[in-house]
Amino acid sequence: ETQTQQLEEQRDALVRSRRQLADQADQLTQESRYKSEFVANMSHELRTPLNALLIMARLLGENRTGNLSSEQVKWAQTITGAGQDLLTLINDILDLAKIEAGKLDVAPMPVSPGGVANKLLRSFEMQAKNKGLALDVDVAGEIETIETDPARLEQILRNFLSNAIKFTHSGSVSLRVSAVGDGVSFAVRDTGIGIKDGDQQGVFEAFRQADGAISRRYGGTGLGLSISRELADLLGGRITLESTPGAGSVFTLILPRRFPENSAVRRRAAAP
Ligand code: ADP
Repeated sequence: ETQTQQLEEQRDALVRSRRQLADQADQLTQESRYKSEFVANMSHELRTPLNALLIMARLLGENRTGNLSSEQVKWAQTITGAGQDLLTLINDILDLAKIEAGKLDVAPMPVSPGGVANKLLRSFEMQAKNKGLALDVDVAGEIETIETDPARLEQILRNFLSNAIKFTHSGSVSLRVSAVGDGVSFAVRDTGIGIKDGDQQGVFEAFRQADGAISRRYGGTGLGLSISRELADLLGGRITLESTPGAGSVFTLILPRRFPENSAVRRRAAAP
């Protein structure tokens, strides 16, 4: 009799705690949904006015009516430049927030590593030339097509290449694509200022720059490499760094041939 009573009490207690847990889970789901919605809305709310501002500043800077003095044209161009920097920063912060909220979509599809490398070569040619740097791309032999998200792959390599050009004053920047094990390696090598041992891990952390004095000289936000590392994770790959101060750096991204089954990633249907 008493045993039955005890068992019934225990059962009731279990039912109550299960209900409590379910309520808590609902609340957490709701909170993370609010956070994700907030991020998405912020993206729109910040970018829309900034884009309007940029369009107007660009128009002013073109001085089509010829009514502005050369000094006023320079001011308009300064507004444009600052606006663009702000847009980059907003996009970077939103990317990080989306990754954290598990809201960053990836769309795996067949990608030609050599094709990506050559496209990047074309888009960075002018930038390198303007700094007097040699820029070359080397695709080692026939590299098979891989399954990955081409936009995210490009985003990582763009980061490597723009950093390599930014932190190099003479010599060259190169991108070498080669097959490694059951993956593909993309190595961006420069003959720039390098990063000392103690700072090499820190550069992958958000807002961290290798050296306060140096970063003030070079500008930037310190977000590019932390986004790159998160993106590499999402693609099932990894990033390694070798660097010698005064001699240069090599940032290497290694991607698997097949896109990983990854529950943390929301797959978007591949474009037809
Ligand atoms: P940002 O370039 O906006 O500062 P990143 O996250 O891309 O942000 O880079 C973080 C820091 O890593 C840079 O500020 C710089 O100190 C260092 N770094 C990155 N790439 C290179 C490179 N190729 N050569 C030397 N230092 C680099």
